[in-house]
Amino acid sequence: MSSMNIVYTYGGKLYINMTNRCTNKCKFCIRFTPSGVDGLDLWLDREPTVDEVFDELCRNDYKKYGEIIFCGYGEPLMRFDDVMELCRKIRLDSDVKIRINTNGHANRIAGRDVTPDMQGLVDTISISLNAKNAKEYNDICVSEYGEDGFYEMLDFAKKSAKYTPNVVLSVVDTIPEEDIEACRRIAKDAGVQFRVREYSE
Ligand code: SF4
Repeated sequence: MSSMNIVYTYGGKLYINMTNRCTNKCKFCIRFTPSGVDGLDLWLDREPTVDEVFDELCRNDYKKYGEIIFCGYGEPLMRFDDVMELCRKIRLDSDVKIRINTNGHANRIAGRDVTPDMQGLVDTISISLNAKNAKEYNDICVSEYGEDGFYEMLDFAKKSAKYTPNVVLSVVDTIPEEDIEACRRIAKDAGVQFRVREYSE
């Protein structure tokens, strides 16, 4: 188990790698590139248990970091209940900020509205908006929910904003400027923050 990169640092932050699974198959997904993240192989032989992840966090002295981020390789909220259990463990004796980078499909995955469960546990939810409409979203993200994946993601963002202090819809800086502005308006209408991320290969 220890040979798997369950917890890793990147850019001075601590990341948790819960799963390889995802409801999308984005054309730009780092899972489909040979280099991984900063040369790290993040493919998991199997999904680690909550205890295994927490042990790795402790081994990496997680309290010294300003922020812990649930991120790829896959979609962390494929394991919503396990992520929440980890948040509770982290919260027990630490004020470290917790962020989840997600595709926003958690409600559809769980079959219920999970956003209230994150209240008091999660500081920031960063959701990939990726495109200005459902068709373009699905062209890029190839969601197992088809174009519904776009609306699921937006609904999740709006609902999350009631319970989580920072909800951010993001796009990468490779899309046209007019699309960025359209996405900025979508975020504004949803009542959440907006961020343009630098694309990294
Ligand atoms: S949502 Fe994230 S993990 Fe899933 S395919 Fe897209 S980039 Fe990859």
